[in-house]
Amino acid sequence: MVAVQVHNTLSRKLEAIVPRPGERQTLSLYTCGPTIYAHAHIGNFRAYVFEDLLQRHLQERGFTVRRVMNLTDVDDKTIRGAHASGMALGDYTRPFKEAFFEDAKTLRLVPAEAYPAATDPEQIARMIAMIASLMERGHAYQAEDGSLYFRIASFPDYGKLAHVDLEGQRPGQRVASDEYEKEAVADFALWKAWVAEDGAVGWESPWGKGRPGWHIECSAMATGLLGETIDIHCGGVDNIFPHHEAEIAQCECAGHGKAPFVRYWMHCAHLMVEGSKMAKSAGNFFTLRDLLEKGWTGREVRYALISVHYRGALNFTMEGLAAARTALARLDAWRERLTETAGSEPAVEAPDATTEGFFTALDDDLNISGALAILFETLRESNRSMDEGRLTPPQARGLLAWLARVDGVLALQPDDVAAIPQEVEELLADRAAARAAKEWKKSDELRDKIADLGWVVKDTKDGQRVTKS
Ligand code: AMP
Ligand code: ZN
Repeated sequence: MVAVQVHNTLSRKLEAIVPRPGERQTLSLYTCGPTIYAHAHIGNFRAYVFEDLLQRHLQERGFTVRRVMNLTDVDDKTIRGAHASGMALGDYTRPFKEAFFEDAKTLRLVPAEAYPAATDPEQIARMIAMIASLMERGHAYQAEDGSLYFRIASFPDYGKLAHVDLEGQRPGQRVASDEYEKEAVADFALWKAWVAEDGAVGWESPWGKGRPGWHIECSAMATGLLGETIDIHCGGVDNIFPHHEAEIAQCECAGHGKAPFVRYWMHCAHLMVEGSKMAKSAGNFFTLRDLLEKGWTGREVRYALISVHYRGALNFTMEGLAAARTALARLDAWRERLTETAGSEPAVEAPDATTEGFFTALDDDLNISGALAILFETLRESNRSMDEGRLTPPQARGLLAWLARVDGVLALQPDDVAAIPQEVEELLADRAAARAAKEWKKSDELRDKIADLGWVVKDTKDGQRVTKS
């Protein structure tokens, strides 16, 4: 198997991804999902698109990826939003959840195996069991306010992911908020005792009515669904501290013994707007919907987000989207030209070995710039060959086959190309064979069958062309 190397935030080094012993080629991947109190903005989607590229590339390299993405549907923000709009929590979050799935589809994200929601009773039970285990082992305590906190002084490894030095800190301070600054290392809330502002939101627990802290939600759902050691855990860099640091503390101190929680931690840099992180709180954000309304397409946004290395700074601009549009138009025109050149030629000639470099670039910590450079160099070269009439139909067919493999990772083909269903492809192949044998009646019948499936087939001098009806 080819080695895929990634930058591990824990070691700060490039490491080859190897499955756990006995796991053959399966990797588990946990990705922190959205807090569904509003529409996700495209900064959030930078993280999800990077995770999608990672998953697709690992699959291209022969791994089976089991990915779980959580939905945070109870926390300070969701409760505040529900309260302000006078709605029940579930009614308030539902439309944002649905919108998230729609946006994910528009951006062509491979669906995860599971999307556990924090308010699911099964998940709440897992969280309570994990907190009980932390209490038993002396890693947690109940404070006067009735809330339970993680005792960071009990876990010497606390700070290992964010590389925070605890010397000089004052463990024993407490913080109820889920998000806080590195400078304020403090015991964080595991279970928040019910207060009047929580209204109808609350669950019974051995320590009284309350609700889980954000960090325990991910720890319990990740280990509950993927096992006590997870291969790859991703998020944006803002998740490193305190969220992922807290997830490690909880998982490595709860009843599992000494198993490391995660083997490879990967974090993407932020999507920026004029030097600041795109964030809901900063008010400098665009949702995908905002951009679609302005006439941009999902694949243009996907291209703009995917085309810069995940650990590099990416400044969001309309010029960036315009550049994505131009790049996609070049790719589309090239694909059409290759299709015309290939005609109905069945023979396939493998392209130049340098094209494999697209995938080897991605093996190197998802070096997308290197991969795109090879894609566009191949485009330029073969366009030149076509200008000079040198590219043969089998060569064009070979490039199209390579492009289909490339697109398995990038997912940037236009909708009509991307979406031709297998069934239609098969009918088209039968029809090509029927026409070659001059069986015109059969050819017409097959055209009707294709039409019944919602596709229009046209015969050109270069063979059949199909578009959505
Ligand atoms: P949240 O809903 O705030 O928990 O964020 C969901 C995911 O989006 C997390 O993985 C964050 O790290 C990530 N994220 C939030 N803002 C940005 C941004 N501007 N750029 C990249 N990723 C982000
Ligand atoms: Zn998380």
